[in-house]
Amino acid sequence: MQKPKFIFIAGGVMSGIGKGVTVASTARILKDYGFRVTAVKIDPYLNVDAGTMNPTEHGEVFVTDDGLECDQDIGNYERFLDEDILRTNYMTTGSVYQSVINRERALGYKGKCVETIPHVTDEIKNRLLLVAKKNKAEIVLVEIGGTVGEYQNLVFLEAGRIMKLEMPGDILFMLVSYFPVPKMLGEMKTKPTQYAVRTLNSAGVQPDFIIARSSVALDDVRKKKVSTFCNMSPGDVISAPDIASIYEIPINFEKDNLGKKILEKFNLKPRTKNVSQWTKMAGKIKTAKTPVKIGIVGKYFGTGDFTLSDSYLSVIEAIKHAAWSLNRKPEITWLDAESYEKEPVKLSELKEFDGVIVPGGFGKRGVEGKIMAINYVRENNIPFLGLCYGLQLAVVEFARNVCKLKEANTTEIEPDTSQPVICTMAEQMANIAGKKMGGTMRLGAYGCKLAEGSLSRKLYSEEKISERHRHRYEVNNRYRSVLIKKGMLIAGENTKQKLVEIIEIPQNKFFVATQFHPELKSRPLNPHPLFLGLIKASIN
Ligand code: GLN
Repeated sequence: MQKPKFIFIAGGVMSGIGKGVTVASTARILKDYGFRVTAVKIDPYLNVDAGTMNPTEHGEVFVTDDGLECDQDIGNYERFLDEDILRTNYMTTGSVYQSVINRERALGYKGKCVETIPHVTDEIKNRLLLVAKKNKAEIVLVEIGGTVGEYQNLVFLEAGRIMKLEMPGDILFMLVSYFPVPKMLGEMKTKPTQYAVRTLNSAGVQPDFIIARSSVALDDVRKKKVSTFCNMSPGDVISAPDIASIYEIPINFEKDNLGKKILEKFNLKPRTKNVSQWTKMAGKIKTAKTPVKIGIVGKYFGTGDFTLSDSYLSVIEAIKHAAWSLNRKPEITWLDAESYEKEPVKLSELKEFDGVIVPGGFGKRGVEGKIMAINYVRENNIPFLGLCYGLQLAVVEFARNVCKLKEANTTEIEPDTSQPVICTMAEQMANIAGKKMGGTMRLGAYGCKLAEGSLSRKLYSEEKISERHRHRYEVNNRYRSVLIKKGMLIAGENTKQKLVEIIEIPQNKFFVATQFHPELKSRPLNPHPLFLGLIKASIN
């Protein structure tokens, strides 16, 4: 195998302009040219992983098959590449320093003074080389979180600079930068990007490409200007205007021949050009016109006056994948669980939706509102999909209102409840008592056996599945028989640990809830069977 190539991607001017989807799209293009590609996300936080970050602060916590809690961009890489990403492909400042410090404590540096350069940069470099090896990747894209000029991501740029020095010809740098078009001027400005490039230069790095994010496409005059001031060829300034769907970005980049230009700089030749599948999928997004209305009952929406949908990113994408593949235009509405607690009459708004989802969550806030919503959709036979907390609360609701266990609750909310229908997993007791909360949930892929005759079994069309988890609580097996007697079906089970993984209410049109997170495995080219099931039921 050839030596692996690396592309470092940094952000300029401001965050939130789509660096992750840029990386994912570039990866997709290179994959379609016939290369083994993978992508890495670097988060400059001191948190060791993303598991301890609140979703309203950092967005969704994504979970890999091998059980790492990581940034939502890993989800974008999986969705665009249509491949599982390994835990090697995510690092934070915290995790890098933790390795260095642990090595130091074990005399691994043999008495040397341990320093940021070269010891921390070496750790970063070695991790990236390991990514290439583990993934057998020919090209590795490395996304550095945040924007250039921030104190906290400097060490990662420095690692990139050193790698370029040591492996010239195998390293490229890309700057994803923002070009504002201020209303009062009506003209696109390049100056902020010029400053960003200068900041990058002062870290010893010259970008090979600039991805020009803006509301509109970059014209030739501005490409020329950026070229002169940023010391690069105008052809390496790639236009990236706002676009209706992120899944069109690879197609857009190819209008500027980004893929071929990258390969040229690496001295590689395209092997195949296999875009038909992707283009077809992206085409369906535009032609789907009939709406399907899905309501998401959650709580991680608000930051001040703004609504943040990032907390449920994979859920949203999974709805879209399934809807598009069934030629429907997804219309997603945020429903605030707490509002139902304050004003129960508002529950009737749920009737306006073709389907309702209660996604994952933690803690007390909004729980009773979610239970009220589940009660409403169950009694009104509105198609319902519950995800993780959504399953647990569906069991609480059913226990209280159908099984007449009035005190039914989850021990997450009421540790001493007399009817703990959802209880703490045995192996989690010590973690909770000892406050060992980082990376200790039941995480990643576990097997599940589907019950003969269940809807889930029909939708998956197989008996054994594997899905990703992130939880500390589970259905209490002591209550299984009463739940079953009253009409609930245990449709999926982890037989090794005897854990309930899926419940259904067969009497309803579509009432399915999972202990795992199916949304994490939905891909635009491979929509998830349970989401397909929900959308199909919602259409009918
Ligand atoms: N809070 C619940 C648990 O820990 C559900 C978690 C989730 O929805 N991901 O079990």
